[in-house]
Amino acid sequence: SKKLKVTSTFESMDLKEDLLRGIYSYGFEAPSSIQSRAITQIISGKDVIAQAQSGTGKTATFTIGLLQAIDLKKKDLQALILSPTRELANQIGQVVTNLGDYMNVNAFAMTGGKTLKDDLKKLQKNGCQVVSGTPGRVLDMIKRQMLQTRNVQVLILDEADELLSETLGFKQQIYDIFAKLPKNCQVVVVSATMNKDILEVTRKFMNDPVKILVKRDEISLEGIKQYVVNVDKEDWKFDTLCDIYDSLTITQCVIFCNTKKKVDWLSQRLTQSNFAVVSMHGDMKQEERDKVMNDFRTGHSRVLISTDVWARGIDVQQVSLVINYDLPEIIENYIHRIGRSGRFGRKGVAINFITKTDSAKLREIEQFYVIKIKPMPANFAELS
Ligand code: ADP
Ligand code: MG
Repeated sequence: SKKLKVTSTFESMDLKEDLLRGIYSYGFEAPSSIQSRAITQIISGKDVIAQAQSGTGKTATFTIGLLQAIDLKKKDLQALILSPTRELANQIGQVVTNLGDYMNVNAFAMTGGKTLKDDLKKLQKNGCQVVSGTPGRVLDMIKRQMLQTRNVQVLILDEADELLSETLGFKQQIYDIFAKLPKNCQVVVVSATMNKDILEVTRKFMNDPVKILVKRDEISLEGIKQYVVNVDKEDWKFDTLCDIYDSLTITQCVIFCNTKKKVDWLSQRLTQSNFAVVSMHGDMKQEERDKVMNDFRTGHSRVLISTDVWARGIDVQQVSLVINYDLPEIIENYIHRIGRSGRFGRKGVAINFITKTDSAKLREIEQFYVIKIKPMPANFAELS
């Protein structure tokens, strides 16, 4: 592949002054590796496939890119960011607002779970230049002609492999949205994981993209220590969790289960045993999800149990421990789940609870990412 230009400071990216100011006042000093390689490519207007390890600053990569590229004198929609969950779309919307703080950018988080009327009222009042949304709601708003797409110049797909996967049901919505955008619209796809199928799909709507890819044996972060706990019976997972509960609360922890039912079951059982936990999944009311997110982000709750709705993109810097109570069914989500810890170079620990029937799955994960997952040391509580 061609050698890409690396821009090692934000100053040398030729950014608008008020954007640079937003970056520094947000607390960033120097660009991460993906930022120094991809931002200028995005600004150049080329289609870009940007893959980089979890927690390395992909959000700011596309946000800085689009904020530089759009014309803030124009008040209509110019950049559209799609992502798979409401919480992630809200988080991204916040990053756009924060980095664009000195530019007066009008960013709008457009997600399901609340009434269209509220969105419409806000839109009519303020308009929007950047939308961060979930595919269903965005498509709905476009179809109802509440969202004008004729001047959209860049489409970003965050967690692109999830959005475009065959199984999750977003793919058709993405295609339908894409069909409503101007023919020359720039497309940027972003994720920590990319597979051949996705790269194939992107060919359909990308034009000779710049590709920044990571080899599979480099996706796993060295800063995240990974362990396995073997239990004879499924029920012993619960005892193990209770044993190590105190170390979960030192900072913050996310526990993953594979089904909503199991999330409910586990949180009830832990609560009955007087362990403080909160939980979140896709069947909960949005107000409840928002409250759980808010309490967790502010550190009021420290142990969160969830499904893969939490696997991708959510950035809470204080999370230093991830537990796979169940191993993930989708192999890509292993790396996304453990990547909720160890954000931007911080240290993290991931613990996998497995029974005998899971050992083949664990080996598959080890082979896929070319890693070795060691047994959890007996003195774990002291280690972390
Ligand atoms: P990714 O999407 O690659 O998983 P995020 O965009 O969520 O990662 O960023 C992870 C964390 O790193 C966020 O808390 C973000 O604020 C922080 N971050 C990103 N870029 C920088 C930077 N250049 N300097 C310092 N912190 C950064
Ligand atoms: Mg991300």
